[in-house]
Amino acid sequence: MAIKDEHLALSSGIILAGKGVRYIEELDLSDLKEGKDYIISSIIKPNKVTAVHMYLSRFQNINEEIDNLLKYELLDMEDIFEFILKTLEEVNMYPGLPDPNFEDCPHYEGHFNCKCYDKVMKWINYIRDNEQKINSLIVHSAFQIVFRDKKFLLKFHKKLAEFVYYFMDEIDERYSDNVTQNDRIKRVSYYPKWLTDALFYRDMGTCSNPECRCDLSNLIRSQNTIHIDHIIPLKKYGSNDASNFQLLCETCNTSKGAKILEASSISVPFWNLE
Ligand SMILES: [Zn+2]
Ligand SMILES: [Zn+2]
Repeated sequence: MAIKDEHLALSSGIILAGKGVRYIEELDLSDLKEGKDYIISSIIKPNKVTAVHMYLSRFQNINEEIDNLLKYELLDMEDIFEFILKTLEEVNMYPGLPDPNFEDCPHYEGHFNCKCYDKVMKWINYIRDNEQKINSLIVHSAFQIVFRDKKFLLKFHKKLAEFVYYFMDEIDERYSDNVTQNDRIKRVSYYPKWLTDALFYRDMGTCSNPECRCDLSNLIRSQNTIHIDHIIPLKKYGSNDASNFQLLCETCNTSKGAKILEASSISVPFWNLE
């Protein structure tokens, strides 16, 4: 099935992605333990909601953001309403509630004691009622950004490898079919098309090894076979989380073995400045 168009809350997502990248060094095992059950199920075989989504959702809380805006003395209800409209527009949600009419309202002083306040509160309640949906749309937007950042992914999956190592007994107990005799997560027998397509687009059909960078699109002649590589190898307690994969050519993958490739910032830009 082809990828469908989707409204992506990119502006909100970029801010969240920035937080995720900034705090990655501080992520530790106890943070990952909080989402343990979900993370275990997402790293056995590729899942569309990845362990990275779980990590990003730690920093995304629309309710808390609104609480903070309401507490912030320099803001009035007009500012808060602006934030609400911007957020809902980004996630493509239009509740059709009556707008506050700030311009014709004689009550200034932030509109905290007039009809405007009640009207804005209805919008706030709408957000609170749809909190989960809004948060998960913004998280998925942020994922679109960090999924391109191989340095971030390498750091994240090094931490996730500690999690795999630490919880191996529990993973084995719950998913013994997916664990090898050497206590590592098993290679999956096939990769879903949504994942291989995503990797192909993200990596621009190019081998991820910075020293190779060969073209794997095979438009005219098939010279290179595409291999799907674990960024952190399974042998090093890597996982099958959908964000732990990249494209390699057959030559690079065969010679790589269980080594970890240095994460490189090399990529294909929209255009070159020079
Ligand atoms: Zn008012
Ligand atoms: Zn290569």
